[in-house]
Amino acid sequence: MDIKAILDEIKAELPQTTRLVAVSKFHPASAIQEAYDAGQRIFGESKVQELEEKHDILPQDIEWHFIGHLQTNKVKYIAPYISMIHAVDSFKLLAEINKQAAKAGRVIPCLLEIHVAKEETKYGFTPDECMDMLNSENWKELTNVSICGIMGMATNTDDENMIEQEFSTLASFFENLKSTVFRNDDSFRELSMGMSEDYHLAIKHGSTLVRIGSKIFGIRNY
Ligand SMILES: *Cc1c(COP(=O)(O)O)cnc(C)c1O
Repeated sequence: MDIKAILDEIKAELPQTTRLVAVSKFHPASAIQEAYDAGQRIFGESKVQELEEKHDILPQDIEWHFIGHLQTNKVKYIAPYISMIHAVDSFKLLAEINKQAAKAGRVIPCLLEIHVAKEETKYGFTPDECMDMLNSENWKELTNVSICGIMGMATNTDDENMIEQEFSTLASFFENLKSTVFRNDDSFRELSMGMSEDYHLAIKHGSTLVRIGSKIFGIRNY
């Protein structure tokens, strides 16, 4: 199948409230252009340098989402144009995004990365750590970032019950924040979860942004 046929197939499966982030990391600009020509506008990348090169040569109305771990010293490169940063995992990173967004005269939409999977990783807040950060209220002074929701990943496993449990945990935490900390903030509305192997389950649990790569573009070499 070509890229357009796969995109059509995926879009037909998504509820109206769920948007597709086509994860194009490690794939060439030509593949992105093909998806763009088929109507896709939101693309996800996870390396700053790679994103920079693609942003320079591809259509300027692409909405670039940064989905990987972002180092604070690299925020400045993407701040002028990035549409959303999915994996904010510390207050320090949020503060740096705020600083660079202010320099660029922008407000940058951000998602807080919540760690629920069984895999060991140094990235992401636990729900408790996230609550502590939000309760400290320092983030309210960061007027050049907009916290638009949360992002998470399920464990890489064949156990669908486990995946569903993790998505359900993410969804409950999202609803909890929406009805408490963000109850007066309409921009808090994104639940970013679901990848090629598990997006059907993510949709079932209310995902508003699915991040799909290999299903669209094929296997990556990395
Ligand atoms: C690579 C990546 C994806 C896409 O994964 P696929 O399995 O290729 O769909 C989604 N989210 C994040 C954070 C990623 O790094």
